[in-house]
Amino acid sequence: MKAEGKTRSTSSVQACQNCKKDFKIEPEDFKFYEKIKVSPPTWCPECRMIRRFAFRNPWSLFWRNCDKCKIRTMSTYPPEDQITVYCPKCWWSDDWDGTEYAVDYDSQKPFLEQLKELSDKTPYASLETQYATVKNSEYTNAIGWSKDCYLVFWSDYCESVYYSSIINNLKYSADCLRGFYSELCYESIGFKRCYRTFFSYECTDCVDVWFSRNCSGGNNLIGCVNLRGASYSIFNVKYTKEEYEKKVKELGLHTWSGLQQLRKKSQEFWASKPYREFNGNSLNLNVTGEYAYTSKNSKELYLVGGLENCKWVQMVTVRPVEDSFDYSGWGNNASMIYESVNVGEHVNNVRFSVYCFPDCLNLEYCIWNINGKNNFGCVNLKRKSYCILNKQYKKSEFEKLRTQIIEDMKKNPYIDKLGRTFSYGEFFPLEMGRFTYNKSSAIIFFPKTKEDAIKEGYTWNDTENTTAPSSIKASALPDTIKETTDSILDEVIECLSCARAYKITHGELGLLRKLNLPVPRECPKCREGRRFAVLNKPGMHHRNCMKCERPIYTPYAPSDPRIVFCVPCYQEEFA
Ligand SMILES: [Zn+2]
Ligand SMILES: [Zn+2]
Ligand SMILES: [Zn+2]
Ligand SMILES: [Zn+2]
Repeated sequence: MKAEGKTRSTSSVQACQNCKKDFKIEPEDFKFYEKIKVSPPTWCPECRMIRRFAFRNPWSLFWRNCDKCKIRTMSTYPPEDQITVYCPKCWWSDDWDGTEYAVDYDSQKPFLEQLKELSDKTPYASLETQYATVKNSEYTNAIGWSKDCYLVFWSDYCESVYYSSIINNLKYSADCLRGFYSELCYESIGFKRCYRTFFSYECTDCVDVWFSRNCSGGNNLIGCVNLRGASYSIFNVKYTKEEYEKKVKELGLHTWSGLQQLRKKSQEFWASKPYREFNGNSLNLNVTGEYAYTSKNSKELYLVGGLENCKWVQMVTVRPVEDSFDYSGWGNNASMIYESVNVGEHVNNVRFSVYCFPDCLNLEYCIWNINGKNNFGCVNLKRKSYCILNKQYKKSEFEKLRTQIIEDMKKNPYIDKLGRTFSYGEFFPLEMGRFTYNKSSAIIFFPKTKEDAIKEGYTWNDTENTTAPSSIKASALPDTIKETTDSILDEVIECLSCARAYKITHGELGLLRKLNLPVPRECPKCREGRRFAVLNKPGMHHRNCMKCERPIYTPYAPSDPRIVFCVPCYQEEFA
């Protein structure tokens, strides 16, 4: 497919190199590819998105030894992986910068094959953290600018948060997913500017809210749905302050048994009320996608905020992002990003790259570049400019060689084990990925069986982390936090739902006491799994509003049993 040099006014359909299904390239897409001087993609948008997600692993952690200082460290790479892994302290130290591994370009071999060889011999960071910006948060990953956090993943600007993911500016909270600018929240998903919000989904500007969904500007709500500016309500019924307080006592919000009953009852009530056609806010202008907020002129988004002129962008937890296509995380002032994963914090013009941050400019085919400028095909390189395969060149030499390599990549592309070709303009072959499919972020958003993943050229790892033998069963835990003594910190608890054992940490116990909530009876993995399970996954569907039958474009598949209304019908009902 040739599209360089002329502006397309019509869309074009072609077969995906991976799944073989047809996909459409729109005139606006051609315009973007022309602007950045790359050929149109050969994989369909969904296959490209899954491929990018497979290049990251924020959530699966293992113990292994640092290959430099030999100290035991948490790592995203399991110990059986035959690569060099440094602990964060050694990786970020100033005594190496990656040019030690420099190689000359060989015009006789596909460039990506040489990049793969370089990648295999450079040291990888055990965790994807911005090491210097994170304090007292050893057991976290994909985190920056945070302190006193424990088992927190994909987070920025957080303090004293435990067991939470995809969060930004969250404080003194635990067991949250997609939480932003909030404090003292527990077991909640998709909330913004909330205070003391518990077991609730998709709430904004709420205070003292329990088991509620899609409420905004509310306070003192229990089990409420789709309310605006409401207070002292239980299951959408309004009470006086005195009646409400009496009811709260009866419901036993401080007991584990009371919470279980309320969880069940509220889920039934939630199911009886409509869902808005997609989750996002009215501050979007000309936007399609799910969990997209305050964005403009952007299409097919997923879990983003502060985007402008973007398409197929996911997982932007820190705004803004401009003029970017096929970009999976994280933002914080990113522009002109294409086919890249986890690049962010003042980054411009980065393509076909993963893990490049902060202050990066003009990077292509780079993996783990810190403060990189004008690099092409570099791996685990820090504070360098005009490098190719980690070798330093003069500006003029760099430009000449870059032009030659791009021509060579088109003439002599990398061909993977399944015969798929990777010319200039294509993201990395799966064989260059560092994570097995089931330990990468792809498994959470695009579940696949081992068989299917391997058929597509991904890898799989069956080993599970072993846990310590338990000293107490979860069912034997006290019903309230008042009855829980500090001795709980010495216990190894057997999860109520799986075979794993888990511990209660000091910070978590302090928070539960402050919130007057009982100790959880499931292990962190089960709790996290439950939260991810309720997340709408990427991918939109055409169907009809269940009230006015208007066509809608929604994350809820036509087979989804929930009641789904278009935005006007939804607003009519609950404004
Ligand atoms: Zn495809
Ligand atoms: Zn080390
Ligand atoms: Zn469990
Ligand atoms: Zn409608």
